[in-house]
Amino acid sequence: MPTLDSISGTVAILDKYGFNFQKRFGQNFLIDANILDKIVSGAGVTKDDCVLEIGPGIGTMTQYLCERAKYVIAVEIDKALIPILKDTLSPYDNVTVINNDILKTDINEIVEKYNEGRPIKVVANLPYYITTPIIMGLFEKHIPLESITVMIQREVADRMSVGPGTKDYGALSLAVQYYSKPSVIAYVSPECFIPKPKVGSCVIRLERYASPPIVAKDEEMMFRIIRAAFNQRRKTLANSLANSGVTHISREGIQNILIKMGLDINIRGEKLTLEEFAKLSDLMGEV
Ligand code: SAM
Repeated sequence: MPTLDSISGTVAILDKYGFNFQKRFGQNFLIDANILDKIVSGAGVTKDDCVLEIGPGIGTMTQYLCERAKYVIAVEIDKALIPILKDTLSPYDNVTVINNDILKTDINEIVEKYNEGRPIKVVANLPYYITTPIIMGLFEKHIPLESITVMIQREVADRMSVGPGTKDYGALSLAVQYYSKPSVIAYVSPECFIPKPKVGSCVIRLERYASPPIVAKDEEMMFRIIRAAFNQRRKTLANSLANSGVTHISREGIQNILIKMGLDINIRGEKLTLEEFAKLSDLMGEV
């Protein structure tokens, strides 16, 4: 029997169970041993680690994780995959599969139950249609975690990594960089999956900061301001914020704050650093 990390191994198990791919679940299974190794090595998984895998599919990467981690919890939405996972993961006693939607799963409870509340590592080949809510949920719900190492769409990885003044810079870049230090582990071609995705992919590691690199007095307010600033990218920051409903401060009032910060009154949100957004949020909070 060929191993799962090949086209023949994957097709054999899919045929055995008469499995049909569900496009709505973003199912693109990895068939490249080299990439699988890069993800698990890039995540730095050791026998001390409890790992959460989101969307195990047929269990290809789960097997790699079981070999290297202390314990693996795999959350899979598609119930048709559960009997397959039971089969492919039968050699391992350090794994639990949960049949659920990750966006409806209480991950804090999982961390409590399987790792006594200590930080876990998240490792996944994510379903691309919900990359942002998954990652933002992990950060915003303050799940105890050391790092997130995930395969995502290349374009989204670019958005996470860039700084001010570039076209990809936006609310996602700022949120990711507030909570973590991103680093690209590998770019991955569609040939490494079955079926092949229509987009290029990237493995990115987000190393969670113990505390954020900057401090805003009101974190939630800062993120409301950031979202409003990028909602209408082409408008000036003062116009975007004054029209957004996040503040009672007038356009002129916001322009005065920008002057205080030494910034141009016509500046757009895409030019501001995370530090400047924190300062802006603090000063707006004082009005
Ligand atoms: N880990 C496998 C691999 O690398 O071959 C499969 C990755 S595939 C890109 C994404 C997986 O996430 C699929 O198994 C899909 O069914 C599952 N999935 C999709 N939406 C999900 C959700 N909301 N919660 C949990 N799993 C989900």
